[in-house]
Amino acid sequence: MRIILLGAPGAGKGTVAKLLTAHDGSVQISTGDILRGAVKAGTALGKEAKGHMDSGGLVPDELIMNIMGERLQEDDCKKGFLLDGFPRTIPQADALGEMLDKLNIKLDLVANIDVPRDVILDRLTTRRTCSNTDCQEIYNVKSNPPAEGDKCKKCGSPVIQRADETVEAINKRLDVYNEKTAPLAGYYEKKGMLLTIKEASSDGVLKAIVDGVNAK
Ligand code: AMP
Repeated sequence: MRIILLGAPGAGKGTVAKLLTAHDGSVQISTGDILRGAVKAGTALGKEAKGHMDSGGLVPDELIMNIMGERLQEDDCKKGFLLDGFPRTIPQADALGEMLDKLNIKLDLVANIDVPRDVILDRLTTRRTCSNTDCQEIYNVKSNPPAEGDKCKKCGSPVIQRADETVEAINKRLDVYNEKTAPLAGYYEKKGMLLTIKEASSDGVLKAIVDGVNAK
């Protein structure tokens, strides 16, 4: 399937993307993961992105479009893709539309995962992420803790709290989401592509998306 996962930070886009990948082999493309990999590798892109990311702000549209222009043409995208954390602004959505038209690719739908702010705040402050950029398994100190000594159960690397998951940075990210990204719901609704999902569990969201794609 070819879908955009829309939803505030902590709405569960990454978790649902992993379930969808297991479901039909579509590849998860997370701009946040790509940027964190670049920061860790110390590339020019990473150096430019780091300050924006740590403060909870957005990386400039042009940098993101350069990344995505290349990523969407890679071979693994032929099986389908799940865009997680992209597009994040109206200019990114416009540029994506043009890019997909040129590549002759049609999206199945835009899934808007709608979760209340208090639930998100609780989820993000208790979230932990595997520090290995090739793994990035997600844990939750309450509902899904890592192994003894804060180690990843999958790869054994240290599990950490992201710099942008402090209460201050999270509040900023949610404000940025409401201002810059939430308008994309209306944008895609006008195009008849939006499916808004209010399910609390990842399995419920997965089912709603699979049903939504099958109904097309
Ligand atoms: P995420 O893991 O998707 O929450 O992304 C983490 C951070 O990476 C965001 O807070 C932004 O600073 C940056 N980022 C990720 N995707 C985008 C995007 N599409 N546009 C701009 N900044 C992005």
